[in-house]
Amino acid sequence: MSAIIELHGVERAYGQPPVMACAGVSLRIDEGELVAIVGPSGSGKSTLLNLIGTLDRPSAGVARIAGLDVHTLSDPQLSALRAHRIGFVFQQFHLTEGMTALDNVADGMLYLGVPRAERRERARRALDRVGLAHRYRHPPNKLSGGERQRVAIARAVVSDPPLMLADEPTGNLDSASGASIVALLRELNAQGTTVVVITHDQNLAASLDRQIAMRDGKIVADSRQPARESATGAVRR
Ligand code: ADP
Repeated sequence: MSAIIELHGVERAYGQPPVMACAGVSLRIDEGELVAIVGPSGSGKSTLLNLIGTLDRPSAGVARIAGLDVHTLSDPQLSALRAHRIGFVFQQFHLTEGMTALDNVADGMLYLGVPRAERRERARRALDRVGLAHRYRHPPNKLSGGERQRVAIARAVVSDPPLMLADEPTGNLDSASGASIVALLRELNAQGTTVVVITHDQNLAASLDRQIAMRDGKIVADSRQPARESATGAVRR
């Protein structure tokens, strides 16, 4: 298995006097993993996800994402890395109102230079993939919370990125919609996408293959479920 995320002694300080939001994290996540990041509010989960997602750079240490050392890349190179390799999903969905589900998803490819007709065709396929073939023309305000999150997930996977990062994806959903979103993430993982999810929900975390617990900017536990079939069919421990 090759690593898709490698962090070595990564630190991120904010403010003066500095708060160490990420206080020396070393972590390896392989392609095909399905990982939960848990921890109390303020423990550094979002900071860690932003570093993994290359939305932020470490103040110290090395972050290698999809084999590329974040430190050595310019801002345009980081944007390209994100556009091609990483899909983001957020608690608040971040969809554009007044635009159909299809156009919201097609916008996920704006930075890839894909022609409009092809963007829309790929957006249709992504919506089909998340079970929303009957909702192409609906704007977000005509969709349920669970459906909105499905649109956001379709947007995140429309360019087939190998890595998906989700920050509290079920935080705004009732438990039934939340469970269906978790099932969808699991399905995408089974199809080969590496998925990293921040969650407060202990049940959700416990249902994923690996749990990483943070406190005070550090990893305090890293545990795996007993052997389970991985995305590639190999049994992991
Ligand atoms: P979590 O996602 O676990 O709630 P965060 O990563 O958001 O934790 O925050 C970790 C710590 O870093 C907190 O003490 C928070 O106040 C601080 N922090 C996060 N982002 C910023 C920022 N942009 N400026 C200043 N402090 C920040």
